[in-house]
Amino acid sequence: MRAKLPMLAECAALIGDIQVRNRGTIGGSLAHADPAADYPAAALALEAEMTLESSSGSRAVKAADFFLELLTTVVKPGEILTRASFAPLAAGTGAVYLKHRHPASGFATVGVAAVVTLKGANFDQVRVGITGLGAKAFRASGVERALAGKGRGRDRRSRLAGGIRRRRERRYLRVRRIPRRTRSRVHEPRARAGVRPRESTASLAT
Ligand SMILES: Cc1cc2nc3c(=O)[nH]c(=O)nc-3n(C[C@H](O)[C@H](O)[C@H](O)COP(=O)(O)OP(=O)(O)OC[C@H]3O[C@@H](n4cnc5c(N)ncnc54)[C@H](O)[C@@H]3O)c2cc1C
Repeated sequence: MRAKLPMLAECAALIGDIQVRNRGTIGGSLAHADPAADYPAAALALEAEMTLESSSGSRAVKAADFFLELLTTVVKPGEILTRASFAPLAAGTGAVYLKHRHPASGFATVGVAAVVTLKGANFDQVRVGITGLGAKAFRASGVERALAGKGRGRDRRSRLAGGIRRRRERRYLRVRRIPRRTRSRVHEPRARAGVRPRESTASLAT
């Protein structure tokens, strides 16, 4: 795993603590679909494929179709997730998992898995999976569209990061129903601090 798909191994190393990592399984994490779990974001960005088996047969489901809602997947009663397949990264593809940990549980306050293939100086394919920001992990398709086929300029990246940060701040303030006048003084700086990545991994396939 470390040789072929280091991002997944590094993502695993950021989960909870050593006891949680020793007892928890990839299948359990994906099937449980906790909205702050790490593997779902990685599975989405890496376009994993899940195999579901029951007494009446088996079926394959792409990660993009697997997570339905809060703690809910396409796994039906009587089915069990027996395999999650991850293709190795193509040459010229880099992958990273960035996570801001909850200080108590280690779950992701926000976790971002990014898989980027370069073509010369441009982004070719970009896949971004996000966890912790909604009822389920999701692909940041707007970010993917904004980057794919474009140059790697610092300006573009900062504009996108600014857009994501503003959306996260609006959500933070709305969810907590915070009055407007206390927002700018207390909560907006706190929301901004919350998106600063504390832990990161990076790997590049050659
Ligand atoms: C203190 C603590 C901290 C944690 N921190 C993190 C963290 O930082 N990041 C993170 O991602 N996760 C974290 N977790 C979650 C942990 O990593 C496990 O993913 C989670 O506890 C599920 O464990 P499990 O694999 O034993 O599944 P179980 O608890 O056995 O199962 C979970 C659910 O999935 C179902 N299920 C399990 N396996 C399958 C299968 N193969 N097919 C179909 N259904 C199945 C079960 O029936 C159950 O409903 C944390 C958990 C704890 C307790």
